[in-house]
Amino acid sequence: MKNKDKEEKISFAQAFKMNWRAFGIIYRKRPQMIASRLIASIWDVLTPYAEIWLSARIIDELAGDRDPGRLKFLVIFTLAVTAASALISAFIRKWRDVQDTSFWFAVDRIFIEKKASLDYADLDNPKTHELIAAMETIGSYAGYTAFSKIWAKNAKAHVLGNRFFWHFGWLGWDDEAAADIRIYNQQRFCGKYIANKESAFESKGLYAKLSKYPIGVYSVLSTGLSVLFSAAVNAYICIKAVSGAFGVGMVTQYTASTMRVFSGIGMLIEFYGDIKNNAAYLKLDFQLIDMKSSLQKGTRRVEPPRKESGGIEFKNVSFKYPGTDDYVLKNVSIKFRPGSRLAAVGMNGSGKTTFIKLLCRLYDPTEGEILYNGVNIKEYDYGEYMRMFAVVFQDFYITKFKLGENVSSGPITDREKVEKCLESAGFADKLAEYEKGIDTYMGKIYDPDGVECSGGEAQKIAIARALYKDAPFIILDEPTASLDPIAEADIYSKFNDIAKGKSAIYISHRLSSCKFCDEIAVFHEGQIIQHGSHDELLSDEDGKYRQLWYAQAQYYQK
Ligand code: ADP
Repeated sequence: MKNKDKEEKISFAQAFKMNWRAFGIIYRKRPQMIASRLIASIWDVLTPYAEIWLSARIIDELAGDRDPGRLKFLVIFTLAVTAASALISAFIRKWRDVQDTSFWFAVDRIFIEKKASLDYADLDNPKTHELIAAMETIGSYAGYTAFSKIWAKNAKAHVLGNRFFWHFGWLGWDDEAAADIRIYNQQRFCGKYIANKESAFESKGLYAKLSKYPIGVYSVLSTGLSVLFSAAVNAYICIKAVSGAFGVGMVTQYTASTMRVFSGIGMLIEFYGDIKNNAAYLKLDFQLIDMKSSLQKGTRRVEPPRKESGGIEFKNVSFKYPGTDDYVLKNVSIKFRPGSRLAAVGMNGSGKTTFIKLLCRLYDPTEGEILYNGVNIKEYDYGEYMRMFAVVFQDFYITKFKLGENVSSGPITDREKVEKCLESAGFADKLAEYEKGIDTYMGKIYDPDGVECSGGEAQKIAIARALYKDAPFIILDEPTASLDPIAEADIYSKFNDIAKGKSAIYISHRLSSCKFCDEIAVFHEGQIIQHGSHDELLSDEDGKYRQLWYAQAQYYQK
């Protein structure tokens, strides 16, 4: 069991291969960066030798003929060479630094795009989060080279430490969590984590131990060895010089060159270490980059819903969430005609939202199939299929961008349409109060004149966004949960207009609002136990629907 947590050993050949692949990616993204680094390195290695050689000639001249003309020339020439090489070095470094900065943006973009393209289902997987954290670790790791060789061996513990750190460290800033944190004094989560002196970054943790022992030993060893070696070489040069083998200038030249060679060898060893060290992180990076979509994605074109035998059909669909053992949906079969209004009702946890998520291909069924126009939905082009659905989820998210950008899910291209959708969603009065109209920012992060919305207002914006998408299926999961009774009545009275010509699915706890739907499906413990019109379902004396209906109705009746 214990071994399972240990990092697998990476051979040098594997490490080299991974570095080579990374090198290829860098080269394709930023060929100039490779060129600038190469030239900078060659330049940095060669120039000192020129200076050493020139200084040795000056010393030789001083110890020998002391010809004033030759001395003057040598000094001026040395100064000129030093100045020119410093200037060229500065240019090359600037070029390299500019390439380096823009390089990090390029690398970030690889991961940002990958993160956004991951299947929704993969977000349930802790492995995905580990890989994403590893990727985010790369950036910070560059800053701690002193530790880097040790970190390679402990990349996993390090990544886990960082995951905790990011999660807890930023909770207080997260405006969706900020109120709860303060009311429930939730910083104690962080406290518990920080108080654990044995966690990776704490005083008794992994890195503290490592820096006390192995890092200390390594640095003493490497410094000690290099002192011993250079002492030995210098002693040899001195003995040779005393015996008259060469002059003072050569002594200077040899000793200085030896030092350079030693530091070069040191850099070579470091380079070897870097290759192995990078590999521990690159391995995690490539696992993320190579992650394949688990959803089957077809190529079939999506046709408009066919009236006869068309629409959506669930056929014996059962579903377990990835990594869990319990069926959340069990053998669900239901047909849904185009243009109709379906209400899904049932108690919390009965599987209604999961039903929607399967329909929208956020997950694929574990068993059974979902058909659209008689064809399994997996066979359709994924993007085209997704365009058929406008969904307002319970936990919808309004970004901090402009109101209009939220509604159009991107740059505002059709202002009139944005305003019309907001009006249909019951937001017209509020919009009239905004000086900057649909250009008003949501929240104050980007603009001090930005506005904060109430839950109900945000829900209206989410509804407007769904209307703007103008998709053939409109799905509302608890569409009016945050709305006051007047706003709710307003939305429902408009809804027949809003959803004209579309198919609509509502999930609602307010059964009175389901009455106007053509059909109602009652979910219970992962199954559809009743399906029919309001009147049909209510007339079933022992039915769940009747029980739910009267449970709610008692508050409204005398
Ligand atoms: P409803 O919408 O009817 O309230 P849901 O479809 O949201 O019910 O949830 C049905 C069941 O699935 C619940 O027991 C819930 O705990 C479980 N569930 C929901 N999402 C996940 C998930 N991502 N992973 C595992 N279980 C989940």
